Amino acid sequence: MRSTMQTPPLLISQILTYGTRLFAESEVVTWTAEGPRRTTFGELGQDCARLANALRRLGIDGDQRVATFMWNNVEHLALYLTAPSMGAVLHALNIRLFPEQLVYVANHAEDEIVVVDNSLAAPFSKLLPHLKSVRHVIVNGPLPEETREALAAAGPEVHDYRTLLDAEDATFEWPQLDENDGAAMCYTSGTTGNPKGVVYSHRSNYLHTMQLCMTSTLGMSHLDRVLAVVPMFPANAWGLPYAALMSGASIVMPDRFLQAEPLARMIESERVTSAGAVPTIWLDLLHYLDAQADAGTPVDVSSLERAIVGGSACPPQLMRDFETRHGVHVLHAWGMTEMSPLGTVAKPPAGVTGEEAWRYRETQGRLAPLVEGRLVGPGGEEVPWDGESVGELEVRGPWITASYYLAPGEEPDAESLAKFDDGWLRTGDVGSLTPDGFLRLTDRAKDVIKSGGEWISSVDLENALMAHPKVREASVVGVPDERWGERPLATVVIEPGQTVTADELRDFLRGKVADWQLPERWAFIDEVPKTSVGKFDKKVLRRRYAEGEYEVTTTA
Ligand code: ADP
Repeated sequence: MRSTMQTPPLLISQILTYGTRLFAESEVVTWTAEGPRRTTFGELGQDCARLANALRRLGIDGDQRVATFMWNNVEHLALYLTAPSMGAVLHALNIRLFPEQLVYVANHAEDEIVVVDNSLAAPFSKLLPHLKSVRHVIVNGPLPEETREALAAAGPEVHDYRTLLDAEDATFEWPQLDENDGAAMCYTSGTTGNPKGVVYSHRSNYLHTMQLCMTSTLGMSHLDRVLAVVPMFPANAWGLPYAALMSGASIVMPDRFLQAEPLARMIESERVTSAGAVPTIWLDLLHYLDAQADAGTPVDVSSLERAIVGGSACPPQLMRDFETRHGVHVLHAWGMTEMSPLGTVAKPPAGVTGEEAWRYRETQGRLAPLVEGRLVGPGGEEVPWDGESVGELEVRGPWITASYYLAPGEEPDAESLAKFDDGWLRTGDVGSLTPDGFLRLTDRAKDVIKSGGEWISSVDLENALMAHPKVREASVVGVPDERWGERPLATVVIEPGQTVTADELRDFLRGKVADWQLPERWAFIDEVPKTSVGKFDKKVLRRRYAEGEYEVTTTA
């Protein structure tokens, strides 16, 4: 029997029209040097229509790529909503990628229009001569004449965002599209070779957005004021922009003000209820809040109900310090670009309290509905969900990519093909699953330390080290060892004004990890190098060690 149900396509334009009409009074707050700039969802809806008319006039009449080179702000949100809704494909460029990678992805995606923040126009003008398919550059905000000339000298027409919009009607008929058509694309950093692109569909984004509004995951609602610290270029901004529109949550956009001090001010003055960022950002914020409290000028973060942490493993100590010192509940989540990105959220089962609840909260979380997972052991066999057996996690589901984007005529390379296993995506993440679906990651497959045929989790060592009160940051990588193949090198950043020795740290780890896993190589460094999205950059750590840049202390 066929169902009697209607089958409207699931489109971004529905999220846009629903949010801007039914929650017309919710607001987008963009941070500026002069303080907050406010736009209601109602006004945003009108700007989306104007933007669509303007983009049509510039020749966007199909699935051309409309790229952004922007911070998180209301104009970027307008593009997130408008480009897909009119049938084009949004490509948010990662402003922190190396220039050669940026040139590669913009050419690979064949970006035709790039919308650039004025604060980023100068660096962008250096890239522009290398971007082959770009016909128009739209600049958001006023621009010095010499930067405008530098952009124009590269060939494309240069426009002012506001001037373009002001010339247009505030209504637009959003087209009926195929829900499986591309809505937005995102490139992940390739471990070797070039970055790989995934193309989200309207349907995948729509379903992913609904998931973010479920209470068993992020539970976003119209009562929220969400601070999107996570930039809008990697990993689909964790889906927060679309979820704000679907749920009616007001959204606070930090633009380029990503340091702890302005973030704390945003939380305090905008009464932020929920915020998403990588652990390094939260760590900086924690130190700032501590320092302000010590100085007798505490920041009022009492509105913050959920600090959502993902992108890399959240050190358990960070969670506990936020909760005990500032009353902020930290929610751990895991995902990846290829998964739109959300895969798991760590909310303990019903009835679980105290230390047992912490144990659940410290995991990456429970698999979200519609995200199927399986663990594959080293020999290719599936390993059981017993909370102990470890394997590489493979996933599948309606917001998980089935392949990487290929430019016309391009063939997939071996690395891309190896990411897929009979309809499942190989995540490259290694860990265990409990019988009720809680994922505990022990490492990325490429970071796990292979010592004498056994695996050492670099993440376990890092978490244990970062629980030491005098340790600010710690990252552990495997380095070559004659006897064991590989052994851990612990790189440690000490809290300013403190001292601690390698022997003391080794003693501190004893009992927290097995004795044979204790590092014997230690390097005290000023800062752990970070990737473009603020994760510990282990490639750089390994290289610096290999090139003898670190002074290494050896413990017995
Ligand atoms: P990149 O590979 O460039 O870092 P992504 O942003 O897609 O790109 O990163 C996804 C990866 O980040 C995951 O495969 C996982 O290794 C790591 N990750 C994300 N969230 C967590 C988390 N909560 N705990 C541990 N690792 C995480």
